[in-house]
Amino acid sequence: MLVDHQPDLLDDNNRKAAIEFIIRRTCWSLSPSSCHHVVPLLERLISNENCKLITHLSISSTVEPTTTTSSNIHRTQVAIIGTEPAGSVLGALLSQSGIDSIVLERHSRSYVESNIRAGLLEQATVDVLDDIGVGERLFQNDFIQRNIHVQFDGERITFPLSELTHGRVATTYGQQFVLQDLIDQRIKSGRRLWFDIESVEIERHDAADDSSGPLIRFTRCGNSNEECILCDFIAGCDGVLSPCCRRSVPPNILHTIERVYPFAWLSLLVEAPPSTKELIYSANIIYGFALQSIRPPRSTRFHLQVSLNDTLADWPDERIWNELKRRLKPNNLSWTLNEGPILERALFPIRASVTTPMQYKRLFFAGDAVHILPPTGAKGLNTAVKDVQSNAANWMNGHRTKHNINIAQGCREPALDSFIVNSSDPCFIQTSYNNSEQVMSEFGQFSGGGFAGDENCRQGFSDPRQGFETCAFNSLSAALDPFLARSTRYITCPNSIQLVNKLKTKGQFQNTFLMLVFISDVYHYRCCAHNFECGWPYYSEELWLATWNNGLCASMHAASQVTALVGPNNGIQVTIVEENEYPFDDTIHFHFQIIETNTI
Ligand SMILES: Cc1cc2nc3c(=O)[nH]c(=O)nc-3n(C[C@H](O)[C@H](O)[C@H](O)COP(=O)(O)OP(=O)(O)OC[C@H]3O[C@@H](n4cnc5c(N)ncnc54)[C@H](O)[C@@H]3O)c2cc1C
Repeated sequence: MLVDHQPDLLDDNNRKAAIEFIIRRTCWSLSPSSCHHVVPLLERLISNENCKLITHLSISSTVEPTTTTSSNIHRTQVAIIGTEPAGSVLGALLSQSGIDSIVLERHSRSYVESNIRAGLLEQATVDVLDDIGVGERLFQNDFIQRNIHVQFDGERITFPLSELTHGRVATTYGQQFVLQDLIDQRIKSGRRLWFDIESVEIERHDAADDSSGPLIRFTRCGNSNEECILCDFIAGCDGVLSPCCRRSVPPNILHTIERVYPFAWLSLLVEAPPSTKELIYSANIIYGFALQSIRPPRSTRFHLQVSLNDTLADWPDERIWNELKRRLKPNNLSWTLNEGPILERALFPIRASVTTPMQYKRLFFAGDAVHILPPTGAKGLNTAVKDVQSNAANWMNGHRTKHNINIAQGCREPALDSFIVNSSDPCFIQTSYNNSEQVMSEFGQFSGGGFAGDENCRQGFSDPRQGFETCAFNSLSAALDPFLARSTRYITCPNSIQLVNKLKTKGQFQNTFLMLVFISDVYHYRCCAHNFECGWPYYSEELWLATWNNGLCASMHAASQVTALVGPNNGIQVTIVEENEYPFDDTIHFHFQIIETNTI
């Protein structure tokens, strides 16, 4: 029995022999009572440098079948509880950073993949889904919301959402489809995701940093054998009221702020195409609020404001349709409400709540586990994705990808951590330097700490002019000075004046679709949308910069003229005329005119 070896295994001198013993043996017989002693022991061994090869240990009953429990112990870095948007997106983001995870879900796969709930994805959510590689099917659907209709007592106002937000749109794509894509990707890549999980119990999540990590016990549906996960961190993505994870935090630590509204929503899923292919928010001073949202391909979701005391029996179909018609119909417009079978109906008391903290020692929370928003806001899924995106990136160990934005973040996030969150630890600042050094040694193209690239940094595309014409970051200085960030982090597209409506053919862009072209589809602008407006203003704004010692710095080059007060007490007025033939000639001429201000 392994338990018999315990004293030797804990002795440092015999550790090597013990590890060899463990590696040779993958099966042990354990009595239920000894299992508790052995688990911490295995953890210590697994975390040992020499034992990295062991990623999965199974312990099974082979000797005493009548008295022992068959059990499995699994090892991972992050155990995620819940596989809806927060848990699934977190799993994908962690895997992108090379961090192993196991996702546990109490429902079946078919339930999760068919549960119709959220449907409206904000642009930031679409960008994250695209970044983690599940954007393909999403981009094929054409339910893009460029406008939102807001109606007061029948007066409809259309807000050009896309126009007002520099081309950003909302995309209608059901939560069930998002989950299908994420689950499919995870299972195909062999990452662990287990459905039909029961009796999840969390232990040791409050352990000190230098002790054994958290442990999760669970069983699988139809099998009473207990299994364990040993992990470094637990992500509580278990949804509304966090039925599993939140009760593992002492009640005096948790603080919930809640707003309960004096009405309820009647939420309806109807099998009928939407009457208007965009969202309608309608407030009627007498009858109340109504919302029409879209659930492609064939359904419409409606929300009706109803009394808190109402029950479903108070709302027969006829009353529902009459109420929807009078609340949603616009004045002076011919408009017909499409009716159809009501597939789902539910009454929700309306409340919004936020619970803090989002982290308790080694247990982190995300999504509905810590904040609930009324479904009419269409924010829950989007906020869940934002939570995990903000908290999952590993900026402490190099750059997650060679994507330019990530590289800039790789310098900025640790530095910010140092300034704002954790100013006592110099390792954050050092990480910013390390990350900057890493990218500069591979891709640094021009003096002053800048690097440039198109979508991703690429070897072989090192002409600084090409770089500056696409995207350029002066990441380290921007990372270390919050005030510099806006101006120097992202200097883009100075040559946007040359944009044409054609695919660039000389490999300027890694993306194979149209980039930097003026045609009216937001996906061709993507995250660089703001560049089109900002390229020239940023470029001219950054040509000449004031230095800390009252000097002037020609940070980028273009034919230009600058007049500024410089020197001690700003006592000298200088005018500099810069002449160059960029990009056809590398020579730059500066002509100076200097006047002492007290002689002006
Ligand atoms: C009718 C309706 C319409 C909505 N419309 C929108 C919209 O248009 N846009 C929008 O952004 N949001 C919308 N929302 C909100 C959105 O659906 C939620 O905010 C979102 O699902 C939250 O995701 P989550 O991953 O945090 O939690 P959840 O989706 O609640 O997922 C939690 C998961 O954890 C699992 N779990 C719980 N306990 C355990 C346990 N002990 N062991 C294992 N697994 C466990 C649950 O089974 C569940 O799968 C809507 C919600 C509803 C109800």
